[in-house]
Amino acid sequence: MKRALVLAAACVAIVRCAGSGSGAPPTPADAKAFLDGVNDTMKRLGIEQSRAGWVQQNFITDDTEALAARASQLAIDAAARFAKDAVRFDKVDVPTDQRRQLNLLKVGLVMATPSDPKESEELTKTMARLESAYGKGKWCPNAATPDSCKTIDDVTKIMATSRNEKELRAAWEGWHTIAPPMRKDYQRFVELSNKGARELGFADTGAMWRSRYDMPPDAFTKELDRLWDQVRPLYVKLHAYVRLKLHEKYGETVPVTGPIPAHLLGNIWAQDWSNIYPLAAPPRADAGFSLTDILEKRKMPALDMVRAGERFYTSLGFAPLPKTFFERSLFLRPKDRDVVCHASAWDIDLLEDIRIKMCIERTAEDFTTIHHELGHNFYQRAYKDLPVVFRDAANDGFHEAIGDTIALSVTPEYLVRIGLLDKAPDTSRDIGLLMKRALEKIAFLPFGLLIDQWRWKVFAGDVAPAAYNKAWWDLRLKYQGVAPPSPRGEELFDPGAKYHVPDNTPYTRYFLAAILQFQFHRALSKTAGCTLPLNRCSTYESRAAGERLNKMLSMGQSRPWPEALEVLTGSKQMDATAILDYFAPLEKWLDAQLAGKAVGW
Ligand SMILES: [Zn+2]
Repeated sequence: MKRALVLAAACVAIVRCAGSGSGAPPTPADAKAFLDGVNDTMKRLGIEQSRAGWVQQNFITDDTEALAARASQLAIDAAARFAKDAVRFDKVDVPTDQRRQLNLLKVGLVMATPSDPKESEELTKTMARLESAYGKGKWCPNAATPDSCKTIDDVTKIMATSRNEKELRAAWEGWHTIAPPMRKDYQRFVELSNKGARELGFADTGAMWRSRYDMPPDAFTKELDRLWDQVRPLYVKLHAYVRLKLHEKYGETVPVTGPIPAHLLGNIWAQDWSNIYPLAAPPRADAGFSLTDILEKRKMPALDMVRAGERFYTSLGFAPLPKTFFERSLFLRPKDRDVVCHASAWDIDLLEDIRIKMCIERTAEDFTTIHHELGHNFYQRAYKDLPVVFRDAANDGFHEAIGDTIALSVTPEYLVRIGLLDKAPDTSRDIGLLMKRALEKIAFLPFGLLIDQWRWKVFAGDVAPAAYNKAWWDLRLKYQGVAPPSPRGEELFDPGAKYHVPDNTPYTRYFLAAILQFQFHRALSKTAGCTLPLNRCSTYESRAAGERLNKMLSMGQSRPWPEALEVLTGSKQMDATAILDYFAPLEKWLDAQLAGKAVGW
């Protein structure tokens, strides 16, 4: 993941003063002064936020948490003010790149507070309550023994490892008990945040989110439908095969036709099915080697694993990482203190001070994750010379997609080329690997789509509060083909059991990233001249691919994303058919397994 940074800053004098003193209409010079001030202060507060965040995650204490929260709040408040101030220049004639900066400021908010101070305060407090309801959420199977209460980590572990239907059902239902108390707050949050969005000129909060994709909000909705239609047939086949295997395991609890019960897929939200790989593994699908075993046998130090990742990028023509990267990154879990070990990439000074923070273990997964995290760092460094407002990915799906694109290049052939593997196994052994990857990436697609489908309908008023839960399950059935293990009435609030809903984090970016990474991989593999099956292509050592990649990365957010997409892929349109190309061997295999069997629900 990329370290989430609210790139905005407190409104300093220069920003406040620009064009606002005399009551005369603002001029182009005022607009330029405003943007100069915004860029300066965004940089200043962005750096403060990163430093405070870095220290907090490396030394978790009450004090560092308070300092980091304060730095974030300053940046969030400033972003809100910038969004409102930028509107003043709507009718001023300014150069294209300044117009884009002003627009990005206007559409950059996730939540707009109403101008009425009382309502604004109510919204902020409601949001804080929702966030903490999730953060403190626990499932307590036995009220008499509070020690037995389960956190999301405990529940995640049960969902991943248990194969006992009763236990899984209890954990699934248990975790969803954290959400009903959020229902009233969520309803109020929708009302108030919509009011704020309307004051900024958007139809509602959902329309405000969609407006940052360089196309009319409704056109973007149609784009997502088009992409989903491209991959849906493959998803439905994977769904049918997994249903068959779960039926073998759990009997009549899993019908051979119809939706899959949502508690049996290895994950509390059924968004990632890779934990049930042992149940769905194709026979004789062993990959023929284990990278984890190889790393272990060689006792490869964490630093060497990072150096291997760096070499991937330098082989494409990127400059080596700066010395400070190695001095300041965290590679190993410290023995003496708590740190946030979830892997992340940082861009502390928005220039050269890039770092990763991860507790590296000698596993294939971490080896791949290093390549992913460095993708963020090389992206960050590529756009460092742009105005601060433009120092971000082309759209919010691009950053994660880049890291994952490079991770897709960690193939057996690549491992041979860097001397970790003697010989790449025959492609006939790929089905297992592809199945595992499909259970993660294909299974995720409908989930990645439906969270915001639900929210957009809620914000737009197409789903009334009295139908929150019904609409949620209608969408989960429609897209994922899953059903709850027991009836779910309107006294419940199942969307609230997913972090991003009470936390109000937009989710479409994850769907986009899942689609784009394969489109990027296909385009770069073609540029690299790869003639192998797409799942075996690596862009390692391809200067031509590196040049293309760098050209897009260095555009940052300065141009509409379709132009950035075109630079890398030759097309302005997102295209999910690269997923079908990548998984073609698996789809063929699935077709054979499913002959004469029910497909769909
Ligand atoms: Zn990432």
